[in-house]
Amino acid sequence: MGQVVVISTGGTIASRWQGSGYAADAAGGDVLATAAVPEGVTVRVVDLMSVNSARITTAHQIALLRTVREVLADPAVDGVVVTHGTDTLEESAFFVDLHHDDPRPVVFTGAQRPLEDPEGDGPRNLHDALLTAATVRGLGVLVVFDGRAHAARGTVKVQTLAADAFADPSGEPVADVSADGVVVHRRPERPAPLPVPAATGPLPRVDVVMHHCDADPVLFEAAVAAGAQGIVLVATGAGNATPEICAAVEAAVARGVLVALTTRVPTGPVAEIYTHGGAVDLAAAGAVLTGTLRAGQARIAVLSAALAATDPAGRAEALRHALAAPVPATA
Ligand code: ASP
Repeated sequence: MGQVVVISTGGTIASRWQGSGYAADAAGGDVLATAAVPEGVTVRVVDLMSVNSARITTAHQIALLRTVREVLADPAVDGVVVTHGTDTLEESAFFVDLHHDDPRPVVFTGAQRPLEDPEGDGPRNLHDALLTAATVRGLGVLVVFDGRAHAARGTVKVQTLAADAFADPSGEPVADVSADGVVVHRRPERPAPLPVPAATGPLPRVDVVMHHCDADPVLFEAAVAAGAQGIVLVATGAGNATPEICAAVEAAVARGVLVALTTRVPTGPVAEIYTHGGAVDLAAAGAVLTGTLRAGQARIAVLSAALAATDPAGRAEALRHALAAPVPATA
């Protein structure tokens, strides 16, 4: 049925007991050995790294993106599976999705239970990811977990421990996946891909600051002072903060910092409704509203925009492009 390359990066799916807790240490071949390979699918493993995903950096994500592209340079390959820790899977998946320009799928998966757990969810998730990678086309980057395939864009980790770890709280799954096959329900809308970042060179600092009762601009301004080229403001409600934070946003934007606005509410878009420090004023101060993207993926959009252009206007345009999703996925 197809040739799939598994890129192994670590996570709980590759984790063993270390004496005091679990950590990723298994190679991709050990992870693959736990799963049933769908009939007719051949698999090759690339061991990129083996880390807990809370330790993933921009440099890792660029290396992963470039590895995906190297693998897909071989026309005999039908699809790619990335095994990844669930903690930051949504960030790496969205980063690859924003730069992915191939109809062949890249399917991220992982596990909530460690490698050798007899009740582990890794074997099923990996089987389903292999099946999806071997069969679908034109859906961009997917997250396959607990019998469902989700579009990378908008999907977040919604459970700390339970098996149904991923969902798009503001959208619907792309497909159901079972031993019988993949049933596609919708085709995600994706913008044209951003240019692939260079393998080396300075990486932009992008920080995340959350608003709350009592919050003043100190942490936001500390991010600017630390050299942040982008900041994601995680506001309350539909995207609201205070007049003092609006002033800090305006000053940061005037210095060329790319500021994006999301919310700490789990579901729904940010919207320009309120003044007196609300999203109306934050937008007027230069913050870019990120629709239904939550903090981790809003940060990836800002990071990708900062990698795509060097000047503030070019970065703001690249961010708006990354957020707009105007072009349907190629079939
Ligand atoms: N700590 C793990 C990680 O690498 C959690 C997981 O994979 O589920 O993200």
